[in-house]
Amino acid sequence: MSDDFSLDELWCKCGCGACNIHPESLFQLQRFRSFLGRPITINSACRCIKHNRSVGGSLWSTHRSTASIQCTAYDAKVKDMSCLEIMEILEKHDKKEFWKGRGLYPHENFIHIDSGHSKMTRWIRDATGKYEYVDKF
Ligand SMILES: [Zn+2]
Ligand SMILES: [Zn+2]
Repeated sequence: MSDDFSLDELWCKCGCGACNIHPESLFQLQRFRSFLGRPITINSACRCIKHNRSVGGSLWSTHRSTASIQCTAYDAKVKDMSCLEIMEILEKHDKKEFWKGRGLYPHENFIHIDSGHSKMTRWIRDATGKYEYVDKF
């Protein structure tokens, strides 16, 4: 799908094959990957409605991928880096704020980024599943 990301990382993990990705978001993900210079593992990108529900995604999740909805979201981790370290680099890299949704999941050590939020939204999810919204990380 791009230099460093293959279809089987990006499509819905339930096996349904849903993979309607917002092209600009994939381009920007690849840009960040090249900037970072390290492999990024995608835990979750596209989700069909059923899979989104089964993993506890919100009704309006930016991971949704249907015939009419393009996924703009990526849950990502990088080997030997904390999610905060990755996010700090993303914050410096993404000066134009393409990624308006930015989530930290320290308990599972991954970041969520999406371009589907209409304004900058940053959150941290704690071990109990509670979301805290913050102005910066
Ligand atoms: Zn699916
Ligand atoms: Zn996510």
